[in-house]
Amino acid sequence: MAKIFCIANQKGGVGKTTTTVNLAAALAQIGQRVLMVDLDPQGNATMGSGLDKRALAASVYDVLLESSAVAEAAVIPDRLSQTGAGYAVLGANRELAGAEVELVSEERRERRLRQALTQVDENYDFILIDCPPALSILTLNGLCAAQGVIVPMQCEYFALEGLADLTNTIRQVHARLNPDLRLIGLLRVMFDPRITLQQQVSDQLKAHYGRKVFDAVIPRNVRLAEAPSYGLPGVVFDPAARGSHAFIDFAREMVERGLSE
Ligand code: ADP
Ligand code: MG
Repeated sequence: MAKIFCIANQKGGVGKTTTTVNLAAALAQIGQRVLMVDLDPQGNATMGSGLDKRALAASVYDVLLESSAVAEAAVIPDRLSQTGAGYAVLGANRELAGAEVELVSEERRERRLRQALTQVDENYDFILIDCPPALSILTLNGLCAAQGVIVPMQCEYFALEGLADLTNTIRQVHARLNPDLRLIGLLRVMFDPRITLQQQVSDQLKAHYGRKVFDAVIPRNVRLAEAPSYGLPGVVFDPAARGSHAFIDFAREMVERGLSE
C-alpha cells in the first residue's frame, strides 16, 4: 500500500511545488515507486516534471470528474524515465480551476481523489500530492486522500502563526472527513543559516514541534529555482547541487521514518 502524503501550506510561494517534484524525483532515485499528483490549476508541478500542461491527454480534472481513471491519466515523462529518477505524473492545468464549480452539486465531492487513488494504491510506494495555496475543494480532496501532511516552511517571523492555522485545518479534516490524516512533519526550506532570525525561528520550531521537524533542511539554492525552466526537478537537473543533496537526504529520511512506523 502506498503512503499518500499532501504537500500543503495555505501560503503561496513557500516551496510546496519545489518540495513535491524534488521529493518525488529523489524518492524515485533511491528506488521507490512514486506517483505525483498535481492538484494546482497553475500546473507548475506538471511543467516542472517535464510535461506540457497544455498537451495533457487526460489530467487530474478528468479523474475528479470521473471521466478518466488514474492509471489512464498518469504518465512517466520521457525525460525523467531516461534519468533513473522516473516517476509517474497525474498532471493539472487551468481546466482544473473549473472543477471547483462543477463539483459543487456532486455527492462525496471531497472524496473523489481518495476514491480514484485506491485503484492504483498497490502500484506505488509513495503518492505525493502538490496542493494549491488556500483551503479549496481541491485541497480538501488532497487532505481526504492522504494519510499525512508534509508542510514546507520558511523560517520567517510569522511562520509559527501560519502553522497554527494549518494544524487547525488538519485537526478539523481529521475529525470530520479523514481520521487517518496527521501531520507528518515540517520541512525547513529556503533556509539560510547566516540569517539569525531564521536560526531563531528554526530553534522555536524544534522547541514547539520536536520530532515533527524533519532533520533534513533544504537550503536556499539557485539551482533548485532554475530547474523548472528546464522542465526538470532540481535533483535531476543538477544532482551535484547543495539543494539536490538536501532532497536526497530528505527522501532517505522519509523512507526511514516510514519503515520505523
Ligand atoms: P509554492 O508551490 O508554495 O507556491 P514554489 O515551490 O513554486 O512555491 O516556490 C516559490 C519560488 O521559490 C519559486 O520561484 C521557486 O523556484 C523558489 N524556490 C523554492 N524553493 C527554493 C530553494 N530551496 N532555493 C531557492 N529557490 C527556491
Ligand atoms: Mg505551487
